[in-house]
Formats: sequence, structure tokens, C-alpha cells
Amino acid sequence: MTTITIEAVNQIFAGDKENVIALSDINLEIASGEFICLLGPSGCGKSTLLNALAGFIRPTSGRILAGGKPVSGPGPERGMVFQEYALFPWMTIERNIAFGLEIAGRNKAEIDERVGFLLNMLKLQDFRQRYPKDLSGGMRQRVAIARVLALDSPIMLMDEPFGALDALTRRNLQDELLKIWKQFGTTIVFVTHSIEESIYLADRTIVMTYRPGTVKRDVAIDLPRPRDPSAPEFNRLKREVGELVMQEQQRHSDAELMIAGAE
Ligand code: ADP
Ligand code: MG
Repeated sequence: MTTITIEAVNQIFAGDKENVIALSDINLEIASGEFICLLGPSGCGKSTLLNALAGFIRPTSGRILAGGKPVSGPGPERGMVFQEYALFPWMTIERNIAFGLEIAGRNKAEIDERVGFLLNMLKLQDFRQRYPKDLSGGMRQRVAIARVLALDSPIMLMDEPFGALDALTRRNLQDELLKIWKQFGTTIVFVTHSIEESIYLADRTIVMTYRPGTVKRDVAIDLPRPRDPSAPEFNRLKREVGELVMQEQQRHSDAELMIAGAE
């Protein structure tokens, strides 16, 4: 069971002048194997919510359950992929992928088999002895994904993982991610500020409000896959979700104008 339950989660950060209410009363039920996108303008609390799911931070109040168990810190059942490829620069690609398995004390034969399988699956075989600096951005993100898959994490948390990639590489990785998701039945929570990306990927797109971060709308994306971004239904959803995001972006810039005015 790899459901995620988020109950009445609040996150308040203490600031110099005033506290920031980053998340306010977030309630979400994510089913096992669901693909969820968290969408909203910068500063609306997407990373904060993801970090709370990962167990990197503790919510000020409320609770989070993963597979029915309270999250009280990071765990191997919840793998994280960051925007900036958090790879070890001094390790080869192969060792980067194997690292978590070594830490977990798996035996060498098992590690070799698993790493070999993932290198093949993510088309990284020719790069196994290379270092992260030798790889393109898209390749490095493949390694970051392989590292999470190596641990068999049933939950994958992704914070704008393709944000720094060009459009073509991004689409390729989106398609690969969908394949992996289907094959492994992973529960995915994927943060993005791209409306199109969320509609291309998600079963449900959670549009968040800007400060405090709350759930503005939970939009079901009931389109068959593979999805066609030029289809009328795709574009209808894009407009619907785009309108919601625009409202929050507007509130964002209004709030910034107010802050600037007060200074
Ligand atoms: P997003 O990922 O949607 O861009 P974040 O979750 O990073 O948004 O941030 C939400 C809000 O919380 C922002 O106003 C940000 O400045 C604030 N914030 C995030 N982390 C911290 C922190 N560790 N300390 C203080 N404020 C923070
Ligand atoms: Mg963020």
C-alpha cells in the first residue's frame, strides 16, 4: 500500500519581521499508483509540501501518512528527484545509481543486476563509467530517476525535475517517466509550474493558491494516454487550469506590489 494521506497540514516559517504561512490546511488523499501534479506560481508552497512528504521538514501541525504510516523523516519508500541533479560528482554514473543499494547493505550480485537493468532501461549503458559532469542535463536527470528506482521506492517525489531542460529533451523524459510509472506502478507526486506539463502527465492536477498555499482546485485529467497536446480536449483543460493559475499569479504580483509599496 503506497497511498498518501495529507491531513490538515499547516507549515509556518518564522521570519525576521513576520511569519510566512507557507501551507494552510492542506488535505489530500492520493491513491496508490496515482500520478499527481502540484501546480502553482513560484512561492505558493509546492516545494514545502513536497519536502514535508519527503520528511525533510515537519509540518507545524497536521499529519502525513505514507502507506498508512506517519511520516516522521526521510525513508527509502519515498524517493526524491530534485530539479538540480543531486548526483555525487566524484562517483561514476554506475556508482551513483548503486550508492543507495550499497548503503542498504544489498549484496554485490544483486546490486550489479539491478544497476545493469536500470542502466539499460534508461539508455545509460554507454555512460556507466562516466562522471556526472560528462553528461547532458537530460542524461543526469535520467541518472537521478534511476537512483530512486534502484531502491524500489513505491513513492517518487519530483520537484520540477525537468524545469531546466530544453523542450525536446523534456518531452522525451516525460514519456520515459510515464513508461516507468506504468511499469512499476509508482505513486508519483510531481511539482511543476508548467500547465502543459501537468496536463500531459497527471491523473489529477492540484492547483495551489499563493500565500498561504492551499488547494485551490483539484482537477481530474481524464484524457487517455498517450496524450495529444494539440487535441481540443487537451486545450480545453489547459485553458481551464491556466485560468486558475493566472488568478493566483495575479494575486502574487498584487502582493509583491503591496510589499514594495510598504518599503
Ligand atoms: P514553491 O516551491 O511553490 O515556489 P516554496 O515552497 O519554496 O514555494 O515556498 C513557499 C513560501 O515559503 C515562500 O514564501 C518561501 O519564501 C517560504 N519558505 C520556504 N522555505 C522556507 C524556509 N526554510 N524558511 C522561511 N521561509 C521559507
Ligand atoms: Mg519550489
